[in-house]
Amino acid sequence: MDFRLTPDQELMRDSIRRLVERDVDPLLEQHDPDQPLPKSAFLAVFGKLAELGLTAARLPQEAGGPGITMLDYGIMFEQIPPAIGLSLIAHEATTSRLNADCNDGQRRRFLPDLIAGRKIGCTGSTEPDTGSDPRGIKTRLTQQGDSLLLNGRKMWITNVSAADLILVTCLDCRGGAPRGQVVKVVVERAQSPFEAREIDTIGLRQGMLGEAVFDDCKVPLANLVESPAGGTEVLKVSWAVNRPLFGLLAVHLAQRACDIAMDYAKVRKQFGKPIAAHQLVQKNLSDIVTAITASRLLCLHALSLVDQGRAADGAAAMAKRYAQNACREAVWQSMNVLGAMGLSTEAKVEALYRDIRMLPVPDGTNEILALIHGRELTGFAAFRGSGRVAD
Ligand SMILES: Cc1cc2nc3c(=O)[nH]c(=O)nc-3n(C[C@H](O)[C@H](O)[C@H](O)COP(=O)(O)OP(=O)(O)OC[C@H]3O[C@@H](n4cnc5c(N)ncnc54)[C@H](O)[C@@H]3O)c2cc1C
Repeated sequence: MDFRLTPDQELMRDSIRRLVERDVDPLLEQHDPDQPLPKSAFLAVFGKLAELGLTAARLPQEAGGPGITMLDYGIMFEQIPPAIGLSLIAHEATTSRLNADCNDGQRRRFLPDLIAGRKIGCTGSTEPDTGSDPRGIKTRLTQQGDSLLLNGRKMWITNVSAADLILVTCLDCRGGAPRGQVVKVVVERAQSPFEAREIDTIGLRQGMLGEAVFDDCKVPLANLVESPAGGTEVLKVSWAVNRPLFGLLAVHLAQRACDIAMDYAKVRKQFGKPIAAHQLVQKNLSDIVTAITASRLLCLHALSLVDQGRAADGAAAMAKRYAQNACREAVWQSMNVLGAMGLSTEAKVEALYRDIRMLPVPDGTNEILALIHGRELTGFAAFRGSGRVAD
């Protein structure tokens, strides 16, 4: 086992760090910290991320991706500010789902603009009455002449307010059945307009999280996704990567809080010496760095399992859940190191605390992640019934 980055990985990490410093951080600073960035700003950043292959990181080279490992992706991803990182996960995971699920004609139509970062994509599964248990979705697809009609509501969808394209999970009710099979359809906003609005949330306020309403939304039949790869398999692979990436968003936030706390502890003096020289402050700083390091390693380990083609569901769930909890505590401890200053908006740690609060929910709440890990450990699925996984 070798925990060093390879020279190539160091190069990738340094390239994205430079890109963030040059193109992303100034953009975030220019805009209102409490409002979603305008679409033009997201497109500008996506265009830059596309140059490093990150808008299609999971795609193989022959499909237009960069051909990097998921471990490489994680190392680079950690450097991206979370308001952008959240948006990138949604966009890039949609690109990878479309690549896996679509036929050749659909790939040719949808993928080039998403890969190049010229258009923004997202995936809509969650609904007002359906969250952790996706079987309850109600959005319905029917047919009218040569077109499909979509009716329903999707909620808590990253990117939806600015998205050019949304991959919608819905029920195929074309045969007249009240609850048909679950299918997916690509809704392109330019030809199938739908309403969308932002939802005001506690953190990641420069990011996008919204609701979409499909009211007799007319979609071409050619946009129905037949999913030759098998929808469930694609979702599982996408979760096994998404979850450690969400963990790395938490690592990014905790690392920033830690850097602020470390600098402050060296200059702030109490009882005649820098607070960094007090034993309990050192213990707090040690706890913070331990939490960040352990979280980072768990997330990278889960991604490396995906690269090796090994079972990664449990490791990915464990990594995300641990990282949310440990890094939230690390941000909290960092605030404490700053005393009252930690509570001020000026010190910028309180914003990190609000941002990190957003992360335990998407792609599996902490409870659901514990059940996924527990299922892998015991062979029993605790979600529904009491059956063994194999039953
Ligand atoms: C930042 C962010 C980004 C998101 N992006 C997207 C997106 O792009 N696309 C999309 O479709 N959705 C997205 N979501 C929605 C997200 O996937 C759901 O919010 C999540 O699945 C939880 O669903 P819920 O909020 O309805 O909570 P619920 O499922 O209603 O859960 C409520 C509470 O009950 C607990 N609970 C539920 N079932 C069990 C159980 N069996 N055992 C124990 N506890 C249980 C949960 O852990 C939680 O604490 C996003 C959400 C956030 C916050």
